Amino acid sequence: MTKGNINIKAENIFPIIKKFLYSDHEIFLRELVSNATDATMKLKHLTTIGEAKVEYGNPIIEIKVDKENLKIHIIDQGIGMTQEEVEKYINQIAFSGAEEFVAKYKEKIPENGIIGHFGLGFYSAFMVARKVEIFTKSYLPDSKAVRWECDGSPEYNIEETDKTERGTEIILHIAEDSTEFLEESRIKSLLNKYNKFMPIPIKFGTKVETVKTGEGDDAKEEKITVDNIVNNPNPAWTKAPTDLTDEDYKAFYHELYPMQFEEPLFNIHLNVDYPFNLTGILYFPKISKAIDPQRDKIQLYQNQVFVTDNVEGIVPDFLQMLKGVIDSPDIPLNVSRSYLQSDAAVKKISTYITRKVADKLVSLFKDDRKSFEEKWEDIKIIIEYGMLSEEKFFEKSDKFALYPTVDGTYYIWDELIDKIKDHQTDKDGTTVILYASDKKSQHSFIETAKEKAYEVLLLDSPIVSHLLQKLETSKEKIHFTRVDADHIDNLIKKDEPKISKLTEEEQTALKPILEEVISNKNFTVTMEALDSNANPFMITQPEFMRRMKEMSATGGGGMFGMGNFPEMYTLVVNTNNDLVNEILQTKTKKKQEKLIKQSFDLARLSQNLLHGEELTNFIKRSFELIK
Ligand code: ADP
Repeated sequence: MTKGNINIKAENIFPIIKKFLYSDHEIFLRELVSNATDATMKLKHLTTIGEAKVEYGNPIIEIKVDKENLKIHIIDQGIGMTQEEVEKYINQIAFSGAEEFVAKYKEKIPENGIIGHFGLGFYSAFMVARKVEIFTKSYLPDSKAVRWECDGSPEYNIEETDKTERGTEIILHIAEDSTEFLEESRIKSLLNKYNKFMPIPIKFGTKVETVKTGEGDDAKEEKITVDNIVNNPNPAWTKAPTDLTDEDYKAFYHELYPMQFEEPLFNIHLNVDYPFNLTGILYFPKISKAIDPQRDKIQLYQNQVFVTDNVEGIVPDFLQMLKGVIDSPDIPLNVSRSYLQSDAAVKKISTYITRKVADKLVSLFKDDRKSFEEKWEDIKIIIEYGMLSEEKFFEKSDKFALYPTVDGTYYIWDELIDKIKDHQTDKDGTTVILYASDKKSQHSFIETAKEKAYEVLLLDSPIVSHLLQKLETSKEKIHFTRVDADHIDNLIKKDEPKISKLTEEEQTALKPILEEVISNKNFTVTMEALDSNANPFMITQPEFMRRMKEMSATGGGGMFGMGNFPEMYTLVVNTNNDLVNEILQTKTKKKQEKLIKQSFDLARLSQNLLHGEELTNFIKRSFELIK
């Protein structure tokens, strides 16, 4: 037996590693299974190119938990190591890697904690083990098996041993503070979290299966014990899109998120090898009202090893609502998030993903417009968010973003403008796009607009005010106005104003009377010469104020502090309606007041703005009036 000293300066670096990676101790298993996988893949490579003269066969990796003796075994059938290789790779490389790690993170753990996911390798075994043994035999002909042992101090033992099988067995003697890892259920869930899609089959225990044997009369069922393979070594994203059916994509979605019962709407298969390497499948989920963005997030892998489900900085914000996997060895992980966001390679990846998503949307729209329209309600939030946040995506969105009308016709931008340009362009040459946000409460306004043969869009997502602002500043000579923002004649001003029945003087006399009776700071009274059969009083909510308030409420973009402003309304008084004239002519103060109150209340009622005591008073007054 040879004793040696690991060439490191720090006396004992384990306590430091343990301390810094406290919350991430569980990654030891992923690191060791990754090493076992690498060793097996290397052998595969060497046999394919004829370098290794051994039978590759069907190697597996086995994990065994020996609770009684406080041990975990990780066994592979890969290339193994000779004594020199153990000296070099384990004593020098693995340890110097660990030392470098400690030097780098002695002061502080990076804020993203992502380092816990990668960079420690073999050494992470000591986060949970008080002693580690390696039994290994190289694939090289006539190589002798070796046993290596270390208890975490810079001292190790190395000696020949009698292992006959090719490959490596790592034995962890679990430390007292880490016995949780001797629970089978814990190991099972770790394998499921990190190794679910690793490329070599992983055996964890056995299971009983029922098989049918024999034919006809000899047919019988037999129970046999088979290896319990816990992973799928060939996940869908590693296959060619041409080899996958719709059903395969759906099945993979459920494999990825076993607790998800909704079907995805459609998927995007990512596959690029230049200038960076990336594969993956993204799914547009059905977005329900109760969507929990914390659940079933996009998972990031490196060579089929799970890294994290926090893809912030790698995938643009708006696409983080998607589901699926991204696998790329080219994403630097041992860096901070702020660095990640400014990294050129990562920027390219983000741009690529955005472009692929936009292209997919274009082709879905082109290939089957009807089905795309049917999905619109479920995907619009993601798309509208993308239009707002990613300029490139916005530019492409003209080809697939839909603008639905209240009657369920869907237009893309150019179609919409073509359709309304002639009829809805005002005297200043601005094309006015009318929209409603709620069919029920804005019903009367929608109807009046339709009577004029105007198209009314139904735009009801929470960020729509931001989107309209964006469209108005990007497109030429268009303007959005909600149907209840003003009287229909004012929404799209076409010709000179109508002649008013009330004279200027009469209007000036009436206004203060109305203001006094109404006495409500949230309402501004304006006189308008409208159709004589249009209602006498009407309440509108000016587009600008309302939109700013909405934007402020949904965050950013709006005016500072607008969210706290009270709702502001306009009371439009139709100076051509006979009732208005009657109000002015009424000589008894009491009767005049009653008329104004009743009309004002009716106008408020039609906008669902009459509540509480005022509603009670209105009802009382109305009964008195019909007595
Ligand atoms: P990394 O895997 O990042 O190179 P590690 O510290 O995990 O760093 O491992 C150091 C080296 O030890 C590996 O590069 C490999 O050469 C060797 N090694 C580790 N585990 C095994 C194994 N199961 N079989 C063969 N070689 C291994």
